[in-house]
Order: sequence, then C-alpha cells, then structure tokens
Amino acid sequence: AQKLHLLRHNVLSFVSSRTGSDFTRRQYDVIVVGGGHAGTEAAAAAARLGAETLLITQKIMTIGALSCNPSLGGVGKGQLVREVDALDGLCGRAGDAAGVHFSILNRSKGPAVWGPRAQLDRERYRQFIQSELLSTPRLTVLEGSVDELLVSQPNPEEPGHHRVTGIRLVDGSHPILSSSVVLTTGTFLSGSLFMGQTTSPGGRMGDAQSCAGLSYTLKETLGLRVGRLRTGTPPRIVKESVDLSLAQLQAPDKQPTPFSFLNTHTRCKPEEQLPCYLTHTTPGVERVVRESVHLNCHIQQDAKGPRYCPSIESRVLRFPGRRHQVWLEPEGLTSDLLYPQGLSMTMPPELQLRLLREIPALHRAEIRTPGYGVQYDFVCPTQLTPSLQVKSTQGLFLAGQINGTTGYEEAAAQGLWAGVNAGRTALSLPPMALSRTQSYIGVLIDDLVGRGVTEPYRMFTSRAEFRTYLRPDNADLRLTPRGFEEVGCVTLRRYKKAVSVRDGLQEALMALQSVALSSTRWREKLGNISLSENKSTTLKRTQFSLLNFTLKCTEPCALWLSAVYRPHCEKQSREMERIRSEESLSLPSDMDYLSLPVSLSQEVREILDRVRPNTVSLSKTTTNHISTVYAILVKCYKYLQ
Ligand code: FAD
Repeated sequence: AQKLHLLRHNVLSFVSSRTGSDFTRRQYDVIVVGGGHAGTEAAAAAARLGAETLLITQKIMTIGALSCNPSLGGVGKGQLVREVDALDGLCGRAGDAAGVHFSILNRSKGPAVWGPRAQLDRERYRQFIQSELLSTPRLTVLEGSVDELLVSQPNPEEPGHHRVTGIRLVDGSHPILSSSVVLTTGTFLSGSLFMGQTTSPGGRMGDAQSCAGLSYTLKETLGLRVGRLRTGTPPRIVKESVDLSLAQLQAPDKQPTPFSFLNTHTRCKPEEQLPCYLTHTTPGVERVVRESVHLNCHIQQDAKGPRYCPSIESRVLRFPGRRHQVWLEPEGLTSDLLYPQGLSMTMPPELQLRLLREIPALHRAEIRTPGYGVQYDFVCPTQLTPSLQVKSTQGLFLAGQINGTTGYEEAAAQGLWAGVNAGRTALSLPPMALSRTQSYIGVLIDDLVGRGVTEPYRMFTSRAEFRTYLRPDNADLRLTPRGFEEVGCVTLRRYKKAVSVRDGLQEALMALQSVALSSTRWREKLGNISLSENKSTTLKRTQFSLLNFTLKCTEPCALWLSAVYRPHCEKQSREMERIRSEESLSLPSDMDYLSLPVSLSQEVREILDRVRPNTVSLSKTTTNHISTVYAILVKCYKYLQ
C-alpha cells in the first residue's frame, strides 16, 4: 500500500511537471541533474540515505536509456555492476530483469577476473529503472532542463570558493533550492553531433544539448578546467536483412548468472536467451573508410575518443590490412534490430550502407538509424575530492561521463557514490571515501581524482592492484556490511542476507579445514564411487583436508573461491593496510605548495599546485616515481603537523 501511495505521488509529480503546474517544493536536500546511468543511481542512493531528493532530467521517457550498446558488464565492468548492487544500487537488478543473453567473460583466466556480462532488452532495462525510481520513497522526478547552478560565496576572504544553493530551470521559473547538487549531464555538456560533414548541437541523437547557462556557470563562475572528448555509435541494422548463416553463432552460457546478490535467477529463462553472432571486416571495409575520410568531420577533430571502443574508421586507419571482429548483438526480445558492435562510424549515411555491405553477412543489410558521433565537454576530475565533490564548491558533486569516463557501469558506480555523499552533506554528515583496496569503485574514483584523464576512462581489472581480493563473487561481503553499518545506503534485507552468507562461508571453511583423513580412509569413505583423474591424483597424497579435496574437485563456487584465494589475500593484507593508512593522511585542498617552507624544486611545487593530491596515498598508476613523490607528500604532510 505504501509503495502504491508513493507511486501515485511520484506519478502525480511527473504529470504536474508536464502540465507545468506548480507542484514542486522549492527546497530539497539533494537535487540530481540528469537521468542517465549516473543520475539514476545518484538519486536513488541519496533518497535511500534519507535525503529528500529531486531528480531533474530533460525527458522522463529517456530515464535509464542505453545510449549506445545494449549490454551491461564485462571484464572490470561486471565487477563494478556487482559492487553497485552490493551497495543496493539499481543497475544489477535492472540487468537481471532485462538480460537476454548472459555470459561470463574471461573464463580462460582465474575466476577473480571473470567478467559477468549480459546483452539487454533496451525497453525492459528502461522500464525497470523508471519503475524503481518512481516508487522510491523521498524521491521526486521532474521533467525539465537545468540552465543555471545557484552558488554563493561562503566567505569573502576566500575568493574562488563557493557553496551551491540550488538550480534554476531553463523555463525561467522560480529557483529550486538545495544544499547539495549532483551534476550527471553525460555527453550533453556543450554536446555536438557529427554525421558525415554535418554537425549539429545535441547531447544524443534526438536530444538537445545541455543548456548553455550550465556550461557558463561551471567554466566562468566556478572557474573549473574543462576538456573535450568524443565518442560514437554504430548504425542499427534491420535483422531480417542480415544473412546470419554467414556469421558464426555465439551461444550464451547455458545457465545465466545473475548480477544481483539478491537474485537466484534472471527474468529471462535459460532456454529463452538469444544468441549473438560473430563476423569480420573485409578489405572492402577499409577501402570505403579510406575513400570517405575527407567527408567525415568527426574523425578530423582533435578531441580524444575511447581507446578501447574505437570507431571502425580509427581501427582501420591505425591497423591497416587487419581483419576486425564485428559482433551482431540482439537489441531485445521483440526488437527487429541488430547492434553491430565494432562498427561505430560517423561517415555520411549512404557510405555507412556501402561499408556494411562489404561484409558478407551484411551484403543485403538495411540501416534503420545511421551511426553518428558526439563531442562534449568534461570537467577535469582532479578538481574533485574522493567523495566526488568539487574541491572549490561546497555541495556540488559530479558523476559519470561529465568526469571523463565512458560506459554505463563507470557512470553508475560514480553516481551511486556521489549520491551517497550528496545525501550525507545535506544531512550534515561527513563525506566518505571508498578505498582502492576495498573496491573497484574506489580504484575508479582514486584514478580519476588522483590522476585525471586524457582520454575517455574505462575500467579494466588490470587497474586494480588487489584484484584477487576485489572479486565479483565477494562484492557483497566487501561492501554490503559497510554500506549498511556506516554509509546508510543498504536496506536491512540485503544486509541480513550478506551477513548470513559471510557467516555461512566462515563456518563452512572451518568445518572443511577441520576434517583431515589419510588416503586409505578417504578410499574407504568413497567406496566404489568412480573417480576422475583429478580426484585420483588428489587421493595419492598421504594426508589432506576436506578443504583441499573440495578445492581440487569441485567447480568454482563462493566457498571454493574464498578458500582458494584466501592465502594470497592474506599475503597482500599488509600492503592493503599500508595503503589504507596513507589514505587516511589527508592533505588540505588549499595547501600553498608554491611557498611551502620545505625543500622542493620549483617544478615539483608547480605539479603539486596543479594536481593538489587529496591524501598521501599513491596508487601504482599515479606516477612512475612512486617513492620520490611519496617522500615529497610525506614532507608536505609533516610540515602540517
Ligand atoms: P547519460 O547517460 O548521457 O545521461 C545524461 C542525462 O542527463 C540525460 O538523461 C540527459 O537528458 C540529462 N541532462 C543533460 N543535461 C541536462 C540538463 N541541463 N538538465 C536536465 N537534464 C540534463 N559508452 C561506452 O562505454 N562505449 C561506447 O562506445 C559509447 N558510445 C557512445 C556513443 C554515443 C553517441 C553516446 C551518446 C554515448 C556513448 N557511450 C558509450 C557512453 C554511454 O552512453 C555513457 O557512458 C553513459 O550513458 C554515461 O552515463 P551518464 O549518466 O554520465 O550520462
């Protein structure tokens, strides 16, 4: 009944927003701008924390839209989805509700770096996210465009320091006030769309760019450093026009593995899953790319594109003569379209068709919507703290593509953490950081705020030093208890489940370790059971525990993984402890490095002045000269004591 009431309330809010009636409160704890992957997680997290939250987005119908690929997870990204879920975020459960093809990637490597991934039904994903948001207590959704951030100067003696006080909509209506604002404007900030020689303003095909006033506030009023990045998307192909017999069928896993720790199965039954298909480019594809370079504005731009998800133009020009993979992926259970992953392109539409038809399986292909590119502003993320708050503006948080990342999972992870901290700030609680020793979300944020980006940032398992500990299977054990006990973003139901799993695992490990038999006794116990080669070899050892036997002889499961990785994680724990203690030694954001009375070269002073490290902690990715820079930071820290 309570859920129905909330749904009714929120839908009414939505309707009145569309009819323009003055329904909104004029004061919220948290305002989230943008209903993409970062914004939805941010709004839901702030509301879960107990903050009265308003999500403002250009179009309610595009909340939860997948702008590009219809898929979630993958290597590194799947870990992020599991962590967002462990902190009670939305995307894992949405993936389970919308997945139509589940597979675990990277199976040839150790289970710590396996990547849970799913192809999604776009409509189901969008519907799931929208219905979750519209029934979230303390969350109101408003359709509108934010044109201006309202800020005040907290202290006249601190020029350049601001405090956010709210937003103003483009329709010129009254300001809406709040003590925290989360900006998640994705590719919409000064966005330009490219197709062939045509350029037009826009954040995504069919959607206007973010209002100019917002860019102005960020750059001119707040003086934030802003850069420019680009990305692109492939044409969508009519499925019926594709000769799938000329492509290689890629079956999903027989048994889908859910993303969410709350789910034991996915909405799509194993036998209902849809296949993907693999095909390759031909020399004809390269020819069309070369012939069309002069007609392709997007690839002539200076802005950096995603290195690990490049356009077909970049791939062909960088690696001439190579055959490139093209995956034909379903767009949904009832969709008549295929998404050609690997064929992101921005040439004129008629040449896109010519290019596709150079691939045997696509020789009769028809395009429903052509590919295009987008170029947009991002805010250099070194200007943020580990809570994703802008250092110079109290109460302003940024998350998602606006911070220079690419991908739904990276956006969702930042959104959740920014929402948590925006909620905490509004409720007068201190900000919180996630350590890179504890989560991939911590690695992501630490890389962004500590090192910045020069090209769209995406997550890989290689970015995490402690990846045998930061596994997809134990994200709930690592994060859910803290999410409930300290952060406040996890529900009791999820917490109880994680605690019972944790206790059960500990008990089972102890029980297994306590049973040790000789090989003769094992043989007696097992009687006439026929043994595989693996098990027989195991039994040749004179004495071993049931735990060893389990490790040798069973398929990976939570217990198996905990047991197998435990010795390695224990070895790493001292190093993790060191990093955690360094992370707690914070350096003030207004430190005057230029005149600090310690012996530092002018060059180092200038670097420190620009980077403004948050803590003494240094990741291996922060610098190639860890020990030198570490010593310098310790010097700065000691000076403060
Ligand atoms: P988005 O999902 O873009 O959401 C931004 C939201 O903010 C939108 O709902 C918008 O309406 C709203 N908004 C913007 N300004 C305002 C305002 N002033 N007032 C109110 N609401 C506002 N990712 C990949 O990983 N690989 C790819 O190859 C890839 N290609 C892409 C190609 C294109 C053409 C596009 C558009 C995106 C692509 N992406 C790709 C990126 C992927 O879509 C994003 O990483 C992800 O959606 C980022 O999430 P976000 O929440 O930061 O922003």
